[in-house]
Amino acid sequence: MAVSWTPHRFSGGVLALDVANTVVLRGDPKRRFDRFEDAAELARFAAAASLLRREELGGRTLVVEDAPATLPVVLRMREAADLLFRRAVLSGSMDASHLAELLAACAAGLADLHDDLGSLDRPFGDAVAPLRLEAALAISAITLLEPQRMARTRICGHCGWLFLDLSRNRSRVWCDMAVCGNRRKARRHYLRQKEVQHG
Ligand SMILES: [Zn+2]
Repeated sequence: MAVSWTPHRFSGGVLALDVANTVVLRGDPKRRFDRFEDAAELARFAAAASLLRREELGGRTLVVEDAPATLPVVLRMREAADLLFRRAVLSGSMDASHLAELLAACAAGLADLHDDLGSLDRPFGDAVAPLRLEAALAISAITLLEPQRMARTRICGHCGWLFLDLSRNRSRVWCDMAVCGNRRKARRHYLRQKEVQHG
């Protein structure tokens, strides 16, 4: 069944973490699933990200030119980013081998791209031209390596997704308060009720 790419699925705050979160329930081998299982989802994700990540992308539209060829490049970056940033949240530092793998994966994402990137006001390059999803993902992941940004990376207390906490007091606990915050609250309420009933 086709994935509905709702705003909740873009709770990562940046493209690289939204992609990392396309594996749902990553820590639960029995229930985990992959929203990119079908390569056709890449183009649909790219279209949604073009709108929902417009600010990060500087208005560039994301495209997928060859989905079957793009998928392994995206998945390699996704897994490398998840490994590196998840550990960085937990331990406060990067594992050198994780960094090496992420950079190699990002290099593959940028291969054969003839584009001007990295100006201060437009890190993703010229807003007018479309940009390949795998190249945008590489830029997003590399940008996230900046220590100030990495220090704001979090793991959702409910679903385990990675997200960038851009709140002023850096106190966000949930990837999405409306979804994970409320589910956790409802669960606490349920457990309290049970305790009351069981005396
Ligand atoms: Zn969550």
